[in-house]
Amino acid sequence: MAAVSRRKLDYILNMRKFFQLYLKLFLLIVLTVPAKAYVPEYSGETFSQKLHWKSAVIPISISSSLIKSSPNIKPGSDVEGAVRRSLEAWENVTNVTFEQLPSDKQSVSPAGNFGDGISLITIAPTSENVVMFGGNTEEVSAITRVFFNKKGMITEADIALNPYLQFSTDGSIGTFDLESTLTHEIGHLMGLEHSSVLGATMHESNGKNGVFNLESFDSRTLAETDISAVRSLYGAKFGDENCCAAIGGKLTAADGKPAKNYQVWAEEYATGKIIGELNTNIDGSFQFEMLPAGKYRVFAQNRTKAKNFKLAEEIGVVETGKGRSASLAKKLEQSPIGFEAQYIGFNGQLSERSVSLNAGKSYTIYIGGKNLNIKDYKFGFSSPFMSITPNSLFEHDFGKDVSVVSFEVKIKPQTALGEYSVFAESLKGQKSYVLGGLSIEQFENPWSNHSLVSN
Ligand SMILES: [Zn+2]
Repeated sequence: MAAVSRRKLDYILNMRKFFQLYLKLFLLIVLTVPAKAYVPEYSGETFSQKLHWKSAVIPISISSSLIKSSPNIKPGSDVEGAVRRSLEAWENVTNVTFEQLPSDKQSVSPAGNFGDGISLITIAPTSENVVMFGGNTEEVSAITRVFFNKKGMITEADIALNPYLQFSTDGSIGTFDLESTLTHEIGHLMGLEHSSVLGATMHESNGKNGVFNLESFDSRTLAETDISAVRSLYGAKFGDENCCAAIGGKLTAADGKPAKNYQVWAEEYATGKIIGELNTNIDGSFQFEMLPAGKYRVFAQNRTKAKNFKLAEEIGVVETGKGRSASLAKKLEQSPIGFEAQYIGFNGQLSERSVSLNAGKSYTIYIGGKNLNIKDYKFGFSSPFMSITPNSLFEHDFGKDVSVVSFEVKIKPQTALGEYSVFAESLKGQKSYVLGGLSIEQFENPWSNHSLVSN
């Protein structure tokens, strides 16, 4: 590390202190408390098919508790704008229209096979709403209760914002971003489940404003994986030239059995941006139905942590055109690995949330996981537009439960907005991914190390 300048070294030492300061907080947030800020809840019978609304027009009642001044929403917040934009985010990419209706109703429908047929967004502190949060009144920012019939058609979905937490629309530290929260819950209302892509709107954890010392606006904008997931329920917006193509396939585990419930994702070949993500079916099959036409690199990894750490394997590269379906099949090797990349870190905190960064800048980021070090592992990105600054790698002491490495990532100015992965790679070429750990966003991240020259 002789190349490290004095200033850089001071910075690193300061960061180490900062890390120790946050160690307790980190353990509290990531290891002991499940970082579930959002929870979907399904009322009625168990289901195996994808839930969706029958009609392309979905009426949503906005409770007066949300519009009148609420002690849980910072005064001066743009509540109506947040509601409108959270609905438009989904309307803009799929064939659905929301019809907003004002309502004096305060409470969600109680659990059961049927609700009252009114889909409500509320923040009222009524007992029906409070009971929905159970013992999670400090951790869960909102809950959506979905009612559906035997055909898998959604008949009602109610969204309760946690009346014990604080919301805002201006990034105020310690509050939840109202628009990010609602955009996620509207996804549930439409029938979507959680995504494992860290930067996706449908990822289960939603940071308060202030995690990483940043505003938590990234869930306002849909990830490509959110878009392809909602399009598989409702189709693309009419007139979308490039949509849609399909990729199907089947995975076999090393023991010859179907690789069921494996996580599969598709990256845009030229950019490394994550476009689709899903889990394999019980027979090991999978089907991306609504990807933009193009060339993709497809990966799979075991979701269960039972035996070994998660090893990601490339299934193949495919090109698929509009209205066409490409297919892939692979028997996975599943050789055991002794390391795992799990968390992403920034500004002294590790989390299961993605870090929002800007193109054309460079940042110091952290990877946390199991048995990581800079001697035995290389680190890299899914995108050719991102690179590690030479001699910027350091190990950090976070205690025995997690190993942490930091480095500077340079992001080229031409990097498109979206979600990208970071990985750790062994000398044998085995890789473990922090899937979608880096979100390239428009919202400014002011903590860059220096700006790259751009033209
Ligand atoms: Zn959720």
